[in-house]
Amino acid sequence: MNAYASIANGLRLPSGTFIDGTLKPAINGATFETRNPYSGAVIAVLPACGAADVDAAVAAARRSFEAGVWSGKHPSERKAVLSTFADLIMADLEELAVMEAMDAGKPVADCLSVDVPETANCIRWHGEAQDKLYDQIAPTSPDAVGLIVREPIGVVAAVLPWNFPLLMMAWKIGPALATGNSVVVKPAEQTSLTALCMAELALEAGVPPGVLNVVTGMGPEAGEPLGRHMDVDALTFTGSTDVGRRFLEYSAQSNLKEVCLEMGGKSAAVVLSDATDIARIAEIQANAIFWNMGENCTANSRIIAHKDVYDELVAEMAQQASAWKLGDQLDPETQNGPLVSEEHFAKVSGLVESGKAQGARVVKGGEGAGGMLFRPTVFAEVTAEMEIFQKEIFGPVVGVTRAESDEHAIELANQTQYGLAATLYSKDISKAHRFARKLKAGTVGVNAYSEGEISTPFGGFKASGFGGRDNGIHAHEQYTELKTIWIDLTA
Ligand code: NAD
Repeated sequence: MNAYASIANGLRLPSGTFIDGTLKPAINGATFETRNPYSGAVIAVLPACGAADVDAAVAAARRSFEAGVWSGKHPSERKAVLSTFADLIMADLEELAVMEAMDAGKPVADCLSVDVPETANCIRWHGEAQDKLYDQIAPTSPDAVGLIVREPIGVVAAVLPWNFPLLMMAWKIGPALATGNSVVVKPAEQTSLTALCMAELALEAGVPPGVLNVVTGMGPEAGEPLGRHMDVDALTFTGSTDVGRRFLEYSAQSNLKEVCLEMGGKSAAVVLSDATDIARIAEIQANAIFWNMGENCTANSRIIAHKDVYDELVAEMAQQASAWKLGDQLDPETQNGPLVSEEHFAKVSGLVESGKAQGARVVKGGEGAGGMLFRPTVFAEVTAEMEIFQKEIFGPVVGVTRAESDEHAIELANQTQYGLAATLYSKDISKAHRFARKLKAGTVGVNAYSEGEISTPFGGFKASGFGGRDNGIHAHEQYTELKTIWIDLTA
């Protein structure tokens, strides 16, 4: 047994939902199972929360917010607590990484090197930033002072996906807590364990009870009541575009809470006619689609290649796909673990079959590899009408499309409902600048696949995003209200 499998055997797993500083069962006693998608074994049984639990969590958040135990602290005090929180996350690096890997199917090597350290980094960055931000004074006549201040919005709900459970939680609670809000998190039902550990660590670090709550359970039973709650001031969501749309309805039909949505993608890598070193481009693009089993919102699931470089790129991508190592996510050598669930495996397989039926050519992969493992797959001769060009697959599946000219490549890249991210290859930096502006995407990586980093805003154009950005100081906007205080000096 490898070292991580033995850590898995000894893990202390959280067993309740986290409200007002304590772990407790659901009010009606309902539970659900969470499984290891590689072995199928039940890892833990968690409370299946409903509207009554959501009410209790929102009430705890409201009480703590109004009491000022967190919202009323000096920003430097919140900074110190969030810094301790980040230290505690790193102190539990191996346990959190193994728990995340077991629950989500993510390779443990990635959880150790990316998910957990980036989670701590995000919490620390927002805590550090907060006590260095100034408000504004408007240009007025000398007989008045117009203050423009930012205030915490109040009670924030965060509804999360399963693909980066820790990191997506950090992207929401980092800026929300730093700016003084109280928060209720609803993790994805497939991957709730590390969210509960995070809440315990936050409490240990000094985040007061009630300021960070976690309600576990299903979307319709626990997510919808948060979306419709009359006492939630802002709701931030990361997940599919279909579910994201619902949160706008919930808000419109309840208290018009602020809504920020980070949703699906169908990101394209555009390889222009003058791109060189196609082998290097293929290596980067293999990571851009196969890493994390392709269960990545910015996964470059389309490559649009100019006809001059198309054949070479298809051949190099096939070679890259063959080299990918699949297996148990707790083996540190594994590059791709299982897809997250049977339901998701069926969705990925179904879209791959549609690609075959619609005339795309399977160059590599195209099928499962036992259990929930899916072979890295490369399709060639993909056209814009095909489902695999238009629909988010969220698996290790890339389609390569031939473009007749550089302009045609950009046109094809922009031809989906999504606009999350894009990649652009050209050896002419002036041309790259010009073409990067033509891509309808929230982030464009030039000569590299990139999501930016914690200091750069992240979010989507078109049906990929709505109402704000994660990361950077820009993320603070969705968790704060802008207020004008007008002081008449003539009185
Ligand atoms: P999902 O939309 O199925 O679920 C997301 C969350 O919404 C879960 O917590 C779920 O329980 C909840 N939910 C489901 N139905 C609901 C309902 N009717 N009412 C209220 N809540 C409900 O998404 P997923 O399958 O967990 O995640 C994959 C998706 O997330 C992909 O589309 C991916 O692109 C997207 N994603 C986007 C980003 C980004 O930053 N743009 C990042 C990661 C993932």
